[in-house]
Amino acid sequence: MQCKLCNKEYSSLEESHYISAAAYKALRDASSKNPNPYQLTHHKAVQSSTQVTAQLLCRACEERLSRNGENWTLRNFLRGDGRFKLDKILNKSNPVAAQEDSPSSLYCASKIPEIDVSALAYFAISIFWRGSTYAWTDEGHVPVPLGPYGEQFRQYLMDQAPFPENAALWAIVRQDKNFNRAICFPWGGRNREGHYGYNFSIPGLAFTLLVGKSIPRAYKKFCFINGDGHPLIATTLVDQLLLEHATKMKKGVMQ
Ligand SMILES: [Zn+2]
Repeated sequence: MQCKLCNKEYSSLEESHYISAAAYKALRDASSKNPNPYQLTHHKAVQSSTQVTAQLLCRACEERLSRNGENWTLRNFLRGDGRFKLDKILNKSNPVAAQEDSPSSLYCASKIPEIDVSALAYFAISIFWRGSTYAWTDEGHVPVPLGPYGEQFRQYLMDQAPFPENAALWAIVRQDKNFNRAICFPWGGRNREGHYGYNFSIPGLAFTLLVGKSIPRAYKKFCFINGDGHPLIATTLVDQLLLEHATKMKKGVMQ
């Protein structure tokens, strides 16, 4: 069996999680009636602890993903007991752009030493890339078809190439306190402008990956990896959108 990340052959591979097992464990909310997190896919919302796995990676690569991205991210995202280090860090930092009454503000992660930019970026890309390597959806679809970019992201994760030129990653801290626990598996597709856009969320955090030659310059400016000062967006808007999505999906499931 070939490891999808290092491409080496092994007699067996690890049972890899789509979204880290630690994310599930950390966010179980013991105080609520249903201690399991919401999980959203593009067509349903379920509250369960079912974890999606597939044999994709060798042990060394699993460890690489933990060491380079997951460990830091999962220490700083929204935990089951309500601790949310990254939000705390932002609360004592000054945004570079914020308007009164606006649900969003913008921070320069390069000015906030407690934020490990490379770990957060690596974590996000590792999840999107995983979404390109296997038919994870119930219908048997690959949720994040990256085409020729898949190989570029693989090399980025192997530290063999820089972040692809025709790509942008938005990193978002979810500040809505009511619904920021939901996990939303990667979903997306082609945008009006002709490039592709994919999204996923874990408690307290959301990410968007844009790929293609036609990404508008204005969108690239907000790239967490290549944008000036590593822009980090903080907003309550993402959760309102996810909540509407979940409500619709739940209605659909119950009908
Ligand atoms: Zn490997």
